[in-house]
Amino acid sequence: MKREIFQLKKTLANDWGDVFKNPCPIKVTSFITGHVIVNKLGALNPKHPNAGEIKDEPLKVPILAHWIQHAQYGDYLVDSGLDSSYYGDPYGKIKGVFAGLFKRLNLFVDGYIQGKNQDISFHLKKNSVNLKGVFLSHLHSDHVAGVRDLPKDIPYVVGKGEKYKNHKFFKGNYLKGIKVLYEIDFSKAPNMPILGPCADIFGDGSFWAISTPGHTHRHISFLINGEKCPILLATDACFIKLGFEKGIGSSDYTDDVLMAQSSLNNLVEFKKCYPQVKVICGHEI
Ligand SMILES: [Zn+2]
Repeated sequence: MKREIFQLKKTLANDWGDVFKNPCPIKVTSFITGHVIVNKLGALNPKHPNAGEIKDEPLKVPILAHWIQHAQYGDYLVDSGLDSSYYGDPYGKIKGVFAGLFKRLNLFVDGYIQGKNQDISFHLKKNSVNLKGVFLSHLHSDHVAGVRDLPKDIPYVVGKGEKYKNHKFFKGNYLKGIKVLYEIDFSKAPNMPILGPCADIFGDGSFWAISTPGHTHRHISFLINGEKCPILLATDACFIKLGFEKGIGSSDYTDDVLMAQSSLNNLVEFKKCYPQVKVICGHEI
């Protein structure tokens, strides 16, 4: 798989006020492709000053993919969620010499829960989605496993330098068949107020990729400037609503806790300035 730079469009907007004055014919529909159990403390950093009274408990949260429909530019996905291999197999048919052992011992592998007809290709077929490309917030398995069931002759886009590792002993091969992975170079994207580097994907102010590093080093969130109201897809810059309400970033599953907190602080500040923005967290609808 080669990596190439994603061509950025020039944006006409200088600030978010400009952007929100021109809502666009673009819509988001979120699909649940399965569930995963996370610890509440960890999804919320217990060391954060606002975390005081939050008790730990296992949370069953959805694994999401988001269908972006632009009247002119067509259908895209933000994240792929899970493919159908997780139905009846919490490990989604990982391969490798020790895969069986790890599964039995429940070690080092994320187990996911998937009901019938929850997988990404079912949702796409049911909605007659004609997929033109896929934007991936980051390369963790709960966001990319579904790529295995998606067409490969379309562009796949991540943040520049986002790491993708197959585990030493077993392989998910989630990105197999993709020839070129396109990368958004946020150092070349315009700095927008509060949020910093943001890429105006179509150049019409409808769909923005926002650099929100921390959960992974090149993590991306997205903003959809639709006609009903703008929607912020925080993706894993904020797992659950309570995290957004209390301004508490994650500590588990997170590459750089301080950086993740700083990215979330920006999103929270943005929502304060533009209360009309609806926020969808990474693992809660
Ligand atoms: Zn996730």
